[in-house]
Amino acid sequence: MSYEPTIGLEIHVELKTRTKMFCDSLNDPDEKHPNINVCPVCMGHPGTLPVINQEAIHKLIRVGLALNCQVAEFSKFDRKNYFYPDLPKGYQISQYDLPLCKDGKLGFRVQGSGKLELREYILKRIRADYCIPRALIIRWLILTALEYP
Ligand SMILES: [Zn+2]
Repeated sequence: MSYEPTIGLEIHVELKTRTKMFCDSLNDPDEKHPNINVCPVCMGHPGTLPVINQEAIHKLIRVGLALNCQVAEFSKFDRKNYFYPDLPKGYQISQYDLPLCKDGKLGFRVQGSGKLELREYILKRIRADYCIPRALIIRWLILTALEYP
């Protein structure tokens, strides 16, 4: 009996957009001071509603087309409720079963046994998501990265 290893990777890419994924807070990954570019929406205050960043969706579609993906005519976001110490909202908005882009591929040239070989990697899905904030220490949350697309 022989086995063929199948390895899946989840790769995160940060899109360079003017604002965050679901609000008008500035998307500034080089922000020098924590918790400046945040608002009630990205902190999940009651009564606030997220609005999808159109620029992020356009850029995601461009990435999907560049990677030979099928771009969905219909896509949706899901709300995943869970507790995590550095997720003050208590939920994350993500895509799972109906991502914006799927079934793409990416070719690499790798050095095989003495020659360059072309390998093709399948991209099962490219989905819109956002980063959760990072906890610098347990009592301080750095909300800056909250909802970077
Ligand atoms: Zn915000």
